[in-house]
Amino acid sequence: MEYEAVIGLETHVQLKTKSKMWCGCANQYGAEPNTNVCPVCLGLPGVLPVPNEEALRKTVLTGYLLNCTIPRRAKFDRKNYFYPDAPKNYQLTQYDQPSTANGWVDFEFNGGIARVRITRAHLEEDVGKSTHFERHSGVDFNRAGVPLMEIVSEPDLTSADMAYEYLNALKDILLQGGISDCDMEKGMVRCDVNVSVRPVGTTTLGAKIEIKNMNSFSGVRRALEYEIPRQIEVVKKGGKLIQSTRRWDDVAGVTEEMRTKEDAHDYRYFPEPDMMPLAPTDEWLAAVKSLVVELPLTRKQRLMRDYTLPAGDAEVFKSNPALGAYFEGIARQAKTPKAVANWIINNLSSKLAEANAKAQAEQEAMGVEAADVTPLSFADLKFPPAALLELVALVEGKTISSSAAQQVFAEMFETGKAPAVIVQEKGLAQVSDTGAIEALCDEAIAANPNPVADYRAGKVAALNSLKGQVMKLSKGKANPALVGEILERKLKSPA
Ligand code: ADP
Ligand code: MG
Ligand code: ZN
Repeated sequence: MEYEAVIGLETHVQLKTKSKMWCGCANQYGAEPNTNVCPVCLGLPGVLPVPNEEALRKTVLTGYLLNCTIPRRAKFDRKNYFYPDAPKNYQLTQYDQPSTANGWVDFEFNGGIARVRITRAHLEEDVGKSTHFERHSGVDFNRAGVPLMEIVSEPDLTSADMAYEYLNALKDILLQGGISDCDMEKGMVRCDVNVSVRPVGTTTLGAKIEIKNMNSFSGVRRALEYEIPRQIEVVKKGGKLIQSTRRWDDVAGVTEEMRTKEDAHDYRYFPEPDMMPLAPTDEWLAAVKSLVVELPLTRKQRLMRDYTLPAGDAEVFKSNPALGAYFEGIARQAKTPKAVANWIINNLSSKLAEANAKAQAEQEAMGVEAADVTPLSFADLKFPPAALLELVALVEGKTISSSAAQQVFAEMFETGKAPAVIVQEKGLAQVSDTGAIEALCDEAIAANPNPVADYRAGKVAALNSLKGQVMKLSKGKANPALVGEILERKLKSPA
């Protein structure tokens, strides 16, 4: 019997807000331990939570971005458990009335578009962070009470690769919606991976095994690449899988059992008594809806359609929105948008990266930390976007050759001078004057009897060497297409 995997992900995302979920403490990574704390997030007796409106807004915006419905009523509940990093002995979350429900995410997979249904995206709060030292443990409560959104998928994923692509698509959406910085290194995105197996062709779900607290997408993929065959092997040998929780050992590359259903928590959920239920107004919802941005996949498909861009170029603009925005700023005025895309992708972005690396090295030499160097962006470019259009037009109009265009581009990047000015100053204009080229061709033919004879004897490739000679005589300025034409005509006519 063949088996297939069934996977559902619970993805926790730290929201990008200035302050924490229920108090005014900074939502800030990397501060001295226990400096962003107050009686509210330390759970001292008698304090009252005040919901962070920006966190609510970002959760509902996520709902819109993920095609969810937004219930008119939501509430917070206490999830009770005792653990040193949870100062209140409960975590506030949205249990049975979440802020968003029933959506989906479309993403590219296996050469097509895959859809994963989203059960809900709800709001909760993060807990503190324990650190274990040699003889004692410490808890840092800076993270306690930071707004955390949980995005729960339906069990629609069927492989490790598919789970990986889904997570990347989700991250792209959250980044572009400004929901979260999604910095994996800073633990801003964490995942619980639920996976079961069942015989192909059946629909009943198998026992759910949850791999807790994964903090990298590649880790999720590796854990599934291990866990799926492990489960299949168990059932193929006649064994029985039971609902349980496992953890991923990244070094050993294995999952191991933590606990089974028997010792699962009873969280004794109950509604938070210190807070009114949430009832967003039409105006508030409309304002949030107005923040909806174009989804990355939608943008990619639109760029391919509107500008006849190949998928590769559109993918670059999808994963680098700033580059894409620059392109779209000028593409409509371009005769061939593809040529503009080429310049942006092949030249402009690498020049910017080069300039950034240089600036960073200089700053570091002066003792500035790499992280504190503000990178150059399109706003810092010395030339206006229209200059790039002009450059492309100069090449397309055959005023300059493509190698001369590289020189012009380098110069405009450095100085911001207009392409036409640079062409004139440097004398880069292509010679398209037929008379002048005729003379150079005659010169090259006279000086190179061997390739001439070869060509006339049928060795067509010999034309290239002659063409090279003419280009050299013209100092690279002759119009290459014209040179080819004229040479061919001259060589074909009787000597
Ligand atoms: P719990 O109440 O234990 O959190 P849920 O039913 O809410 O469980 O599901 C949590 C996650 O597990 C969801 O992403 C869901 O799609 C996924 N899931 C549920 N059952 C299974 C299963 N049998 N196999 C794989 N994933 C599952
Ligand atoms: Mg769960
Ligand atoms: Zn606080």
